Amino acid sequence: MLYFDYAASAPPYEDVIRTVSEVMKLHYGNASSIHAYGENAERLLNKSRSVCAEALNVKPDEIIFTSGATESNNLALKGAALRYRSRGRHIITTRTEHASVYESIKFLSEIGYDITYVPVDAMGRVKTEDVLNAICEETILVSLMHVNNETGAVHPVVEIGQALKRKHPKIVFHVDGVQAYGKIPVQLAGSGIDLYSISGHKIRGPKGVGLLYIRSGLELTPLMSGGSQEQGRRAGTENIPLIVGMSKAMRLARERQPELKARLERLQILLLEEISQHPEWVLNSSEEGAPHIVHFSYPGMKAEVMLHTLEQLDIIVSTQSACSSKQAIPSRVLLGMGKSEAIADSGIRISLGDQHTEKDILQLIQAMRQMKERLASFEGWNS
Ligand code: PLP
Repeated sequence: MLYFDYAASAPPYEDVIRTVSEVMKLHYGNASSIHAYGENAERLLNKSRSVCAEALNVKPDEIIFTSGATESNNLALKGAALRYRSRGRHIITTRTEHASVYESIKFLSEIGYDITYVPVDAMGRVKTEDVLNAICEETILVSLMHVNNETGAVHPVVEIGQALKRKHPKIVFHVDGVQAYGKIPVQLAGSGIDLYSISGHKIRGPKGVGLLYIRSGLELTPLMSGGSQEQGRRAGTENIPLIVGMSKAMRLARERQPELKARLERLQILLLEEISQHPEWVLNSSEEGAPHIVHFSYPGMKAEVMLHTLEQLDIIVSTQSACSSKQAIPSRVLLGMGKSEAIADSGIRISLGDQHTEKDILQLIQAMRQMKERLASFEGWNS
């Protein structure tokens, strides 16, 4: 089997697996306890925080650990909206965000916040001027993803962040960086970004752990009530084994990012060229997007049928995002990009990682051709 679903979850590094298990076995103290076992756990927690901060070139006390990027996004959006509600109740975002952002914003809309969804172009990118034009006196929060998890589209978040800080310094800017970190350069200093979410398992770290960068001086209303862990911003005993594992993956991802980007770009081009040679297929991603995602549709064909046909050929891909793929509905992201239902219903996402070689891509291409032949031979499939 060849696994091309790294954007859903990437295989953890051997070193991460070993470290998580070692820390579970040896350092099980509670980081809040004041005896030696607690101090030991706290030391590991502080070290991990410093490693993650260094990887992002920010201060350790600007990082808090969470149970994953879903929680980071919920905390960023609900925490900022509640904390700054006396300033206004208007939020700006797009319709192509990850479910954890989209649904958090839907919740905020249900409790009285006004939402503006700025449009994205046919390749899924937002325009800086559209975001700026949507701002009104009541605007308190802008949330955009850095890289789209279905199509790989990259929003110009640094340009937007800098423009926001110049013209509207009080507006909080949240960026979901889950699919960007480790794949494209991420530079938070001077970016105008106030909140940045990262997930462990997308960068070959463990599942169930993530972090939120919170710029110094920014306040959030906590979502969890309880102890004073994570500077009082996220109550609950810290999961030291997963946090240490994530910090390892963060460091490796940072070190390897430039080389990985160059390598994945070469593999991505092979796939893009292949797809463009099939007139029946529609490309929903491009070379300008992140290097690890290629997305295409085969209008008239159900995405699940293509996925299972490829699986029979020993190739694992995904239909939309993993969080949405069990709902048999057209992709909200593709509809948000102005694509037809037929295109939104027939999308396949191929996502690459550092273990893939050119040989793997050639095998994938071969399987895609076979899939097309097999499906085309089903009488009446297109009627
Ligand atoms: N944001 C994006 C862009 C994602 O791709 C994902 C995972 O699919 C998430 C947020 C949620 O991350 P987690 O699985 O850590 O909750």
